[in-house]
Amino acid sequence: MTKRYDVIIIGAGSVGNPTAYFLSESGFKVLVIDELASSGQGQNKSAIGGVRATHSDPAKIQICLQSLDIFSGWMEKTGTNIGWKKGGYCFPVFREKEEKILKSILPIQKRHGLKIDWIDSDGIKEVVPGINEKELIGGTFSPNDGQVSPLLAAESFTNEAKKLGAQYQYHESVIDLLIDGNKGSLSVNGIKTTKGEYKADAVVNVAGAHASNICKTVGLDIPVNPDSHEAGITAPIEPFLDPLVVDIRPGAEGKTANFYFGQNLEGQIIFCYTPIKIFPGEDRRSTSEFMPIMARRMVELIPRFKNLTIRRLWRGLYPMTPDGVAVVGKPSGIEGLYLGIGTCGQGFMMGPGIGLNLASLITRGAPTIKREVFNLLSPDRDFYSKKKEALK
Ligand SMILES: Cc1cc2nc3c(=O)[nH]c(=O)nc-3n(C[C@H](O)[C@H](O)[C@H](O)COP(=O)(O)OP(=O)(O)OC[C@H]3O[C@@H](n4cnc5c(N)ncnc54)[C@H](O)[C@@H]3O)c2cc1C
Repeated sequence: MTKRYDVIIIGAGSVGNPTAYFLSESGFKVLVIDELASSGQGQNKSAIGGVRATHSDPAKIQICLQSLDIFSGWMEKTGTNIGWKKGGYCFPVFREKEEKILKSILPIQKRHGLKIDWIDSDGIKEVVPGINEKELIGGTFSPNDGQVSPLLAAESFTNEAKKLGAQYQYHESVIDLLIDGNKGSLSVNGIKTTKGEYKADAVVNVAGAHASNICKTVGLDIPVNPDSHEAGITAPIEPFLDPLVVDIRPGAEGKTANFYFGQNLEGQIIFCYTPIKIFPGEDRRSTSEFMPIMARRMVELIPRFKNLTIRRLWRGLYPMTPDGVAVVGKPSGIEGLYLGIGTCGQGFMMGPGIGLNLASLITRGAPTIKREVFNLLSPDRDFYSKKKEALK
């Protein structure tokens, strides 16, 4: 007999696990399906764990403020350590060009209630001890942002969702959506997997880099295309760095748009850069150019990094949309289907906020943030009308 659930979630990742948690908390019977061996094995484990609400897009700001509340209150709520570190985010600035960009979005950020300010070079030297002060002008600092361990978070959201009754099935791939009706008035009422069929009143597609394929099975064309990014982590050193630091200057080598790093609760430095020429597709093999470029940029910015021991490098995927904004909500013309996809390089930080809003949309018919702000993430929008947000 086909099993029945209130909600089926496709993908136990950065977005899927919090969604399962909040739906289960509301008393809904939830099934989570993932093709990999356990939770968080998709792109979730590629994230370096930066969590900030300091964006320029209002929807990202509101969603990430909710994520920050959830991450920072998680220990108190569940008794589980997910590596939350409230060290803030710091964007040091060395050129007028970047000063103008950052100062131009400060009013938007402040209007949305974010705690962020421009600080002078002395202030930056205090929050980033040992920073190379040559040409340092100042920068922004947002003390309420922070870091979380994506590995611990995936495990904890899964465990807490299971305690509330959610059922997880791994090694099972969703190959189709089950539907009622014809083109124009479709209703999704279940899924077909490599192991069987399951019915539900609602299906949530949070399948990350593969989300578009699932949309296509019901004729829905949502442009989420992955490109790959590399990252790494060092052996631990004495704690000295509170914030996650983002240097938005392009690199002198002509290959990097910006780079960022932080020190996690274990003392490890975790780092990543944004290549100028993107690598579309799903190739996750490490490149030989990443570490030499990264090492040079890091040691130039913080000379005391020169003796760090690199422990591990990896390459993962950003599920990108053309406008750089996530796709969250219910596409019109299709009942029973909800999306939380296309989160680009910010899916880990947006995950809990998206999960909370999707759960509320499904259980109460409305998101938790204002509808007009939530609609900026609409699956029905024109993905090509807007320029990408200035800060990724
Ligand atoms: C190097 C790097 C650094 C990053 N740093 C950060 C950061 O600091 N902060 C931040 O917020 N974000 C960061 N990101 C981005 C972040 O990792 C992603 O945006 C996020 O993990 C996407 O979440 P998701 O839930 O959409 O996808 P995933 O976490 O990949 O979850 C999707 C799940 O769906 C499953 N799935 C897919 N298709 C199917 C199917 N057909 N059937 C069954 N299961 C399926 C997958 O197996 C996967 O587990 C970084 C990414 C990279 C590569």
